[in-house]
Amino acid sequence: MARPPLPPEASAHAEAAALEAAYGTLDPRELVVLATNRFRPGELAVVSSFGADSAVLLHMIAEFDRDLPVLFLDTGKHFEETHDYRDALVDDLGLRDLRIIAPLAERLDRDDPAGLLHTRDAEGCCAIRKVEPMQRAVRPFRAWFTGRKRFQASTREKMPVFEAVGPRIRINPLAAWGADEIAAYMDEHGLRQNPLVAYGYLSIGCFPCTQPVAVGSDPRSGRWAGQAKTECGIHLPGALGETPAKLS
Ligand code: SF4
Repeated sequence: MARPPLPPEASAHAEAAALEAAYGTLDPRELVVLATNRFRPGELAVVSSFGADSAVLLHMIAEFDRDLPVLFLDTGKHFEETHDYRDALVDDLGLRDLRIIAPLAERLDRDDPAGLLHTRDAEGCCAIRKVEPMQRAVRPFRAWFTGRKRFQASTREKMPVFEAVGPRIRINPLAAWGADEIAAYMDEHGLRQNPLVAYGYLSIGCFPCTQPVAVGSDPRSGRWAGQAKTECGIHLPGALGETPAKLS
């Protein structure tokens, strides 16, 4: 008798584990090709913050599919430099499907009418400005790329390339790359850099919650400096409303 199909979460979990076992050590460019071939048009996207080294993954993607949707969460608190950089880089790379996702106006009106929620409740602010928009952004897709890397923070040291997030798969092609490889790729391809990097911003998010980083420090130490918070929440387990996978 045929076995019943797995629930979507368990299916994604099994698929991510199989992909990780088979391909988790491939070069980032090979991973981009593999994923763009594996998922059908409309199933795959990339989420980009247009931060310090976002150009690397976007350049790899543009080499193979300039129509891949590029999702940018516009929190309303980004540096103006990041907006300008986003538009210039999209133009440089010929990316044709930039999608800008904003927080819900009714949530801002209700919970952050003065735009100062970040000063008293950073988790609540990220929930409105990042996590909920991220849930909406990835809902149409079966998988998405991120540019996260293991070296960026101790919380990312064990990050796999392929991860199940509820019924979807998150792909981190640059997971194993270090700062030297990122810099070399930027140089080799003459990629435009977010201008804030020149001022010591090595991990770039919203302006109220981002500071320059001292030479030699954890690149993400300038995010929510002085707080226990280290992630905005969009990458944390459970943040996107997923339920744990049932594997049996
Ligand atoms: S990073 Fe700061 S300003 Fe941006 S959404 Fe989170 S708390 Fe709000």
